[in-house]
Amino acid sequence: MLDIATLVELLAKPQKIVITTHHKPDGDAMGSSLGLYNYLIQLGHHAKVITPTDYPDNLSWMPGNSEVIIYTENLEQSAQLIADADLIFCLDFNALSRINNMGILVGESTALKVMIDHHLEPADFDDFRYWDINACATAQLVYKFIVDELHNGKLINKDVASCLYAGIMTDSASFSLPNTTAEVHRIVAALIDAGAQSYQIHQLVFNNSTEGRLRFLGMCLSEKLEVLNDYNTALITVSKQDLEKYNVITGDTEGIVNYALSITGIRLAAFIVERTDMVKLSLRSRGEFPANEICKKYFNGGGHRNAAGGMSTSSLEEVVNQFKSILPEYKKLLIQ
Ligand code: 5GP
Ligand code: MN
Repeated sequence: MLDIATLVELLAKPQKIVITTHHKPDGDAMGSSLGLYNYLIQLGHHAKVITPTDYPDNLSWMPGNSEVIIYTENLEQSAQLIADADLIFCLDFNALSRINNMGILVGESTALKVMIDHHLEPADFDDFRYWDINACATAQLVYKFIVDELHNGKLINKDVASCLYAGIMTDSASFSLPNTTAEVHRIVAALIDAGAQSYQIHQLVFNNSTEGRLRFLGMCLSEKLEVLNDYNTALITVSKQDLEKYNVITGDTEGIVNYALSITGIRLAAFIVERTDMVKLSLRSRGEFPANEICKKYFNGGGHRNAAGGMSTSSLEEVVNQFKSILPEYKKLLIQ
């Protein structure tokens, strides 16, 4: 393990740095990565953000976006950058399986690996860890890392602040989740002071839907929502054909699970979608209910207690049946 003094010393000189984040990056993944990127380039580092896959269009406004390399579209360049790196920052994930095939390259690289993350149960692949499961977003940790550990808060300029603001805003569900503490609000206020335009960022991220996405959402709510009152559970199931019919693209399914959770009394919500190579589950829960336990135990996944994900190679119908068959085990927790 590397200590903070050695890391600070390393970062005092320009280094070859790769920043990466989990596949299908969300607002926190891109916000924390580009926030750190916009900080590091001010110090003369040769930094590159490499994402394992593409990401939604409503995140493409972030400063530095045009410099992002998408691994699946730039295999050789990505491999070279990872092999040549002195340092690799791993943001918003804590197991190499979360970055798909890039995980092999990162694992093999001799670069020092710095993990900044807020997910449970980190795997042991890093050399330095800045990790706190109580943080509402990795972007919050990037802010604290720059200010408290690197003592460089003065370099939080408008670009850094805008990205970090977006990360915190999206992962805290617009500052509504229980982990949106007073400290988070103080950090957010500091980001606004540094130039983040809260109204504009909110518009760019949340009020930027295509007509198709809205119609797809309407179809999910009117035709695909199933409410299991005996278990205070709601699920939305979407097939490959539905995705094709509505020309659904990356990001269009983001957040739909929250509508199921917004029904009064519902403690567990699931969005189950048939992708080309697997069935993906997104689970959300209220209070003490451990959505991540279901994902870990039954669906090769994990995440946070109230927001977790997993996958299966079984058919959509089998996955839905399996999900329903698990509920009796959790009935006590669901109906209390
Ligand atoms: P989402 O439902 O938005 O895809 O993911 C919700 C949360 O669960 C995120 O914090 C994400 O990092 C985590 N998560 C989603 N899918 C997986 C998975 O397959 N494995 C693990 N370990 N975590 C996941
Ligand atoms: Mn996050």
